[in-house]
Amino acid sequence: MIDVLVIGSGPAGYTAAIYAARAGRKVVLLTGTQQGGQLIITSFIENYPGFADPISGPELMEKMRLQSEKVGVDIVYDVINRVDFSQRPFKCFGESAVYESKAVIIATGANAKWLGLDSETKYVGRGVSACATCDGFFFRNKEVAVIGGGNTAVEEALYLTNFAQHVTLIHRRDTLRAERIMQQRLFVNEKIKILWNTEVRDIIGNDEKVTGLSLQNTQTNEMSEMPVDGVFVAIGHQPATSIFVGQLKTDDSGYIIKDSLSSKTSVEGVFVAGDVCNPTYRQAVVSAGQGCIAGIDADKFLSINN
Ligand SMILES: Cc1cc2nc3c(=O)[nH]c(=O)nc-3n(C[C@H](O)[C@H](O)[C@H](O)COP(=O)(O)OP(=O)(O)OC[C@H]3O[C@@H](n4cnc5c(N)ncnc54)[C@H](O)[C@@H]3O)c2cc1C
Repeated sequence: MIDVLVIGSGPAGYTAAIYAARAGRKVVLLTGTQQGGQLIITSFIENYPGFADPISGPELMEKMRLQSEKVGVDIVYDVINRVDFSQRPFKCFGESAVYESKAVIIATGANAKWLGLDSETKYVGRGVSACATCDGFFFRNKEVAVIGGGNTAVEEALYLTNFAQHVTLIHRRDTLRAERIMQQRLFVNEKIKILWNTEVRDIIGNDEKVTGLSLQNTQTNEMSEMPVDGVFVAIGHQPATSIFVGQLKTDDSGYIIKDSLSSKTSVEGVFVAGDVCNPTYRQAVVSAGQGCIAGIDADKFLSINN
């Protein structure tokens, strides 16, 4: 019998597993298809404490994996397709096994929505980003574009004015979905220009980095090109929670609802950490912090309910 089953191998999952294992619990961590989580597609991380020089995402996540193994976490490559939290022990149905555990920690993350262009995949980390807080710093005095029309896009555009020479917000409609107060801040910022009724058809580059965008006006169909150094795709995130529908309480966007001070979900014995329950502060260090809370909460739960 597993004491704590951790679903997900990002910063939240590894940290939760390390804390639960160091508390003496038998811990199994399931990696999912993206072992190491979102950071494995990132070239440089400059904001994770403890590394004075930038560290690559794969290197940071490999260190977390090694640390987890060292403290006794059993790491298994499997993906959960279905869960049954109606009674204890909880049952999680993977592709290669059914996992029965006394407690579960969910750390399945949230994926950025992308445009779906081949060029976008090619240039991720080389000019294409989905996170201004993570990568804005690399675009000092550069020309950048933000794609989207909701609150996230407007926030990203405003944040990028701290670094970039100019920011162009590209939106396919003629009005923004963002809150009015956010729009007002955007309209008065002299560094920001808005391209209305415009869709990105392709991201242009020189094989090393992004150099521009191919655009199409949605009303006239006219094509144009715009030189840029960076492109921030800000069209939303999708929490990885489809397997928990009907089992746990989620908000309207699908994020798992947790107790405000702890990592408790709507089911006693099931805990949550990281981007999957955090639409606002999607950062590795926050996920790791929440993972710590979940690891401690799971251990406390087991000491009462073992
Ligand atoms: C391109 C990019 C650059 C970034 N740069 C930075 C940065 O510089 N600094 C920073 O702090 N943050 C950065 N971030 C944000 C950071 O990556 C996330 O905040 C962080 O990874 C979230 O950690 P997490 O553990 O909650 O989830 P994730 O890292 O998303 O991990 C989720 C895990 O769950 C697993 N999983 C999902 N579904 C299942 C399932 N059904 N069964 C089993 N496993 C499952 C996945 O395989 C994965 O291992 C960046 C994000 C991106 C996309």
